[in-house]
Amino acid sequence: MRPPDPAQVRQFRRRLVRWYRRHGRDLPWRRTRDPYHILVSEVMLQQTQVERVLDYYPQFLRRYPTIESLADASPFEVREAWEGLGYYARARNLHRTAQHVTACHGGQLPADPDTIQTLPGIGRYTAGAVLSFAYGQRAAILDTNAARVLSRVFAVRRGNSKGRWWQLLWELAEVVTPIRGADRFNQAIMDLGATVCRPRAPRCADCPVRACCRSTVV
Ligand code: SF4
Repeated sequence: MRPPDPAQVRQFRRRLVRWYRRHGRDLPWRRTRDPYHILVSEVMLQQTQVERVLDYYPQFLRRYPTIESLADASPFEVREAWEGLGYYARARNLHRTAQHVTACHGGQLPADPDTIQTLPGIGRYTAGAVLSFAYGQRAAILDTNAARVLSRVFAVRRGNSKGRWWQLLWELAEVVTPIRGADRFNQAIMDLGATVCRPRAPRCADCPVRACCRSTVV
């Protein structure tokens, strides 16, 4: 894939972030910089709809407000607190991460991209989310919403290999993520994918990045 046109990248960033200031979703995990709270929200969001997480996130944090309090809980208690969210492997991994971080990192989630990805259940996306949202780092994210937006705006065709396509989109995400304000940019691209650039019937007429979108659906 050829590198994207720098002028298109600049325009895309500018328009996206401007739109986000007015139309971004106000979600409780966006009102904190606490790395543990952000990690809890991201793990819950991995396989659960936002509306459902909105109920469970505050309950879980009332029960385990700090990473140390989660580390001290028994596996049975953590499973009970997770009841209703499903995919319990997530809760098990979150618990093990809390125990490891408490024992080996002084209760502070690592701010280094390689180290944080060695923790149970933390892959490249979750690492990028914690590093950008909590630590303000220039860390890219790629979820299905962001992937859809990037593939349409920069016309990255899927072809025969989903793995190769995903890899290209990660490379693109690394390029387009700005040095400053990666947190807002990442939140904006996910929100655009969730609310405007939807899988079916994208709302192109209302889209803030329409002028720089190379998708054939426009
Ligand atoms: S113009 Fe349409 S296809 Fe392009 S990013 Fe916006 S909603 Fe998606």
